[in-house]
Amino acid sequence: MAARILVVEDNKLNMQLVSDLLTVHGYEVVQASTGDQALQLARLHRPDLILMDISLKGMTGLEITHELRQNPHTAHIRILAVTAYAGEEDRRRALLAGCDGFVSKPIDTRQLPRIIAEHLKGESAHGRVGGPADPHR
Ligand code: MN
Repeated sequence: MAARILVVEDNKLNMQLVSDLLTVHGYEVVQASTGDQALQLARLHRPDLILMDISLKGMTGLEITHELRQNPHTAHIRILAVTAYAGEEDRRRALLAGCDGFVSKPIDTRQLPRIIAEHLKGESAHGRVGGPADPHR
């Protein structure tokens, strides 16, 4: 089984792009477009990693991250903040909120799978990173 990634994104085109990309790279993708959905699906599916859009309508990605960190069932999940504003202050705030790393928009389709694999480092509650096609993991 593939590692499972929860993609939190409120833009349909971005969601489609990232989901397709991750699926091609052998990941199982779960999609959420709001904070409530993200919290619910994180508890339900226990993803190995969350790609967290910071700019959402309603609850922001940092608020969701903070909430996930408070819950013992979701506190350990790796979270990568995704944002167009990748200034020093934004990075600092994302790390303070409990994010493990940072991905800038627009998404670099070559870099993203590499960054995700690095953060998962071969560990997954659901299987090997990159899926069964990767013999080096
Ligand atoms: Mn957004």
